[in-house]
Amino acid sequence: TEILSLKAVRKAYNVGTPIETEVLHGIDLSLRAGEFAALVGPSGSGKSTLLHLIGLLERPTSGEIHIGGERIGALDEAGLTRLRGRSLGFVFQFHHLLPGFSALENVMMPSLIERGRYDAAMRRRAEWLVARVGLAGAMHKKPSELSGGMQQRVAVARALAGNPPLVLADEPTGNLDTHTADEIFTLMRDFNREEGTAFLIVTHDPRLAARCDRSIELVDGRLYAGQAT
Ligand code: ADP
Ligand code: ADP
Repeated sequence: TEILSLKAVRKAYNVGTPIETEVLHGIDLSLRAGEFAALVGPSGSGKSTLLHLIGLLERPTSGEIHIGGERIGALDEAGLTRLRGRSLGFVFQFHHLLPGFSALENVMMPSLIERGRYDAAMRRRAEWLVARVGLAGAMHKKPSELSGGMQQRVAVARALAGNPPLVLADEPTGNLDTHTADEIFTLMRDFNREEGTAFLIVTHDPRLAARCDRSIELVDGRLYAGQAT
């Protein structure tokens, strides 16, 4: 089954002005449930833009995107927010943890916001995740009390909190040393195998891309290849 499909997706900025620029030129792409894919390509090739479209932060200029079988063109803002909360998890290059809250609270936050109320199952899931990423002893620490690698572990746990079928990661290891990058990558790979979560990971690290099921390469806003690695 498909978790994600893009058909003839184009994205232009400053549409209708003299500086209109098309950044993505007709992207056809699909991702199966449980797939673990790298998104690679030179700087400026459109990776962030593509991730923003799939993450429902921006709409395509033309073409169709389906996530979990839903056609996003048919959804209003509230519908997009709901689909994002139900279907997607996010990991960023910089962890974006809330400084005033503990590791555990940070992991619970998206589910809390999405459901609008606290429940015990949510907390159990968050506690389990924090332990699973190796931070059982640091659950109540604030982000500033954690190392960069630990902060990114919390961010990975947070992305998984709502059991999303797809996690989007924009250079999740770009800010880490090689050893820590490997650990974070392995953690995502483990969740992929244990929970069947699909991942789409932007990375500049060929070693990490080679450890994915598949490399999707963007060059100048076009998909270059989607072959198995
Ligand atoms: P990558 O993530 O591969 O580095 P981006 O998606 O960030 O590529 O950028 C692709 C191209 O689109 C670049 O030329 C960038 O300057 C341009 N671009 C990205 N966002 C915008 C925007 N909001 N307005 C205008 N141009 C943009
Ligand atoms: P990265 O190097 O991580 O891909 P960038 O520095 O290219 O990030 O872009 C950072 C942010 O600025 C992104 O959200 C991107 O969409 C936006 N952006 C990039 N290029 C432009 C541009 N020419 N005009 C406006 N926004 C841009």
